[in-house]
Order: sequence, then C-alpha cells, then structure tokens
Amino acid sequence: MKIIVQKFGGTSVRDDESRTHAIKHIKQAISEGYKVVVVVSAMGRKGEPYATDTLLSLVGGNVSGLKPREYDLLLSCGEIISSVVFTNKLHENGITATALTGSQAGFSTNAEHTGAKILEMKCDRLLQELEEVEVVVVAGFQGAAPNGDITTIGRGGSDTSAAALGSALNADYIDIFTDVEGIMTADPRIAENARPLSVVTYTEVCNLAYQGAKVIHPRAVEIAMQAKVPIRIRSTYTEGLGTLVTSASKQNKGSDIKERPVTGIAHVSNVTQVKVFAKKDQYNLQSEVFKAMANENISVDFINISPKGVVYTVTEEMTDRALSILNSLGHDPQIERNCAKVSVVGAGMAGVPGVTSKIVTALTEKGIRILQSADSHTTIWVLVKESDLVDAVNALHDAFQLETAQLEYERDEI
Ligand code: ADP
Ligand code: MG
Repeated sequence: MKIIVQKFGGTSVRDDESRTHAIKHIKQAISEGYKVVVVVSAMGRKGEPYATDTLLSLVGGNVSGLKPREYDLLLSCGEIISSVVFTNKLHENGITATALTGSQAGFSTNAEHTGAKILEMKCDRLLQELEEVEVVVVAGFQGAAPNGDITTIGRGGSDTSAAALGSALNADYIDIFTDVEGIMTADPRIAENARPLSVVTYTEVCNLAYQGAKVIHPRAVEIAMQAKVPIRIRSTYTEGLGTLVTSASKQNKGSDIKERPVTGIAHVSNVTQVKVFAKKDQYNLQSEVFKAMANENISVDFINISPKGVVYTVTEEMTDRALSILNSLGHDPQIERNCAKVSVVGAGMAGVPGVTSKIVTALTEKGIRILQSADSHTTIWVLVKESDLVDAVNALHDAFQLETAQLEYERDEI
C-alpha cells in the first residue's frame, strides 16, 4: 500500500474555504495512487470557536485548578472536532474517509499530561481502515496513556503526530501544509525579503525550528530524519511542492547544501535577560543559581558564565518567579525585559571566516545594541531589545544576501 501523510495546520482547516483548498491536495495524492493519512490541527486561531486557545479560555487559561488530565481531555476535543468536520467535507467531495482520535490511530504515550511522549505506534486499526477507505483523518496532537486516559503531546504536536505516523507507516512523504510557501529564509511576517527554500537538510530545518522558526516543530523533523522519510512543507493555498526536507547524503551532485554557510534567520520573542553578580569570593554562584532554577522547573537559555557572575535568559512568563527565587537567595539581579533572541543558522558556517564580524557590522550600522552573543558550529545567537527585532532580522537577512538566487537548488540535483 502506497501511503502519504498530509498534515493541515490550524489556519488550513479554519473554514470551509480553507478546507476546500486542502481537499484539492488530497485529491491529487489519491490520483497519484496514494492512500492518504490526514492529520488535522484544531480549527483556527485564538478567538475562533473551536481553536485550542479558545477551549483553554473556557476554563480560565493555564491558571485554573484543573488537573492536567482534564486539560488534556478538553484540549483534545479541538482536534477531534476538526477531524470529524474534515471527514464530512471529504464525504461531500465523494471521497471515502474515516475519522480516528489519536488513540484510535495508535498513539500510545506515557502519562505526562500536556506534554506526553509517544512510546509506541500501534497502527493495525488504522491500516485496517485504510483497506476500506481512501483517507483516514487522524486528530493530531494527542494519544492515550497506558491507563487509557487521553493525553496531549505539547504545542506544535500535530507536526509530531504527522511525523510519527509517516515513520510508523513508512510513508513516501510527510506533507506539512500551512499558510506559507515552505521553509523560508526568515519569518515572512518579519522579514520583508524572506523567500522560500527549495531543498534543505533535516539538520538545517531542525536548527531553524529549535531557534524559533515555528513553521515546523523540531521533534517532527527528528522523527522523520530517523525514519528517513522526506518532509515537504507546502502551502495549502497553492499548487507548489514547497520545501523538500531530506538528508545531505541524498545529494548526487556536489555538496551545495552542506556548504551553504547561512540557511536562514530565526528568532524568539518575549525573552528576559537576567544578570546575577557574584559576591566577593563567592565560588559557587553558578551552581547555586542554576540548581534553584531547575528545582522550580524554570528553563534557562543563553547562559554566559564569568568570574564576575552569570548571565542567562528566561521566558517573559517565568520572569517574576525567577526574580523572586533569586531575591530569596539574597541576590539582587539586574533584569532586562522585552528582549528577543535572533539566530543566524547554517550547517556550513563552521570555519567560514567573517560570519561573526558580518553580523556585528550589520547590527551596529543600524544602531542596534547587542546585549549578549554566543556561537556554535551551526548557529550564531544575539540578544537584542524586542523593539530592535524587526530591524535586526532584516539587517541580517540583507547582510547575508538571503534574498538572492544562490539559495535556489533545483530538485533534480537531489
Ligand atoms: P500551522 O497552524 O499550519 O501549524 P504555524 O503558525 O505553526 O502554522 O506555522 C506557520 C508560520 O510559521 C508562518 O505563518 C510563519 O509566520 C511562521 N514562520 C516562522 N519562521 C518561518 C520560516 N523560517 N519559514 C516559514 N514560516 C515561518
Ligand atoms: Mg504549527
């Protein structure tokens, strides 16, 4: 059985018009001889009646006294509703289809509610259904714990659902349909010259996704990479094939992709910089601070350590808690709210001279202050004020000439 997995995100299933576009892609896949496993997200964005955030608002957001298992029960309904509405639309178009919840589709997870891990995929039921119908529509973002309780697998989870199914069913492709043309050189909502990439490696996309490019969840990329199933990131609203995500070893000709020093720019907003200064002769500051953060489940990022003290970042929502913990330890930290972390990502930047100096020059010329920086062999990070974010991303995009044709790789090179 030739199988393709096609995932449609929240905006792609939000209304009848979007679903009509989605159906065109499914018809195309059926005409190519595929059985189609569709994964759907909840319908629409915050404010729309059946969107995840809307369901959450029914119980006062994240702050109510509900147990995590009840949150999961509520949130899972968004995708279940979406799967049934989508199945109905397929029927209206003369396509045979069955809707399955995540659990019915075989997602067996641990019991860590709201962020459960997929333990095993048991797809017998799904495969049986696929013998009978052209399309099985699976509610994304969910599974069931060993005791049968419904679990959800974290935000961006439908991407992960699609990748797990693609991997378990050994699909030819995992198509991620969304509201942009593919993986772009930067978030098009911020970078006016951002352009779609034609072919990228799993590693490049994974790095971009971890640094905040939310077009696909990084976990989904890792799962597909392990199973060696190619991903295509495509627009629901056009006929293009989008961005092909594959492994570097698939290349027959040359090593163009590997050598691309910069693939794109990613960013994370709503970050707070925290500076804690060492007291005289204090030698255990780092371990004291990071132990305290870990004990309170506050994740820290962008850590710089020096004899004078430690500097790190936390998310905006964790700022007050971090501050009160530090105060209780007798520290008087310096806090810089409203920062953004901008990352220049590229698998081939290691050993390429001048990348850092280009970044510093580009930002300085625009009068943008770099609050902190760090680098690895694939990424250079800078922390800037949120008010400089748009200018910073655009300046870096220009500095590395990411709008030029050199980024286009013909598919037949792969
Ligand atoms: P979906 O609901 O389909 O999962 P998301 O909102 O999660 O859609 O992801 C799509 C969005 O990701 C785009 O609208 C775009 O603003 C954003 N985005 C951020 N970085 C990138 C990038 N490098 N390439 C493409 N889109 C990006
Ligand atoms: Mg998404």
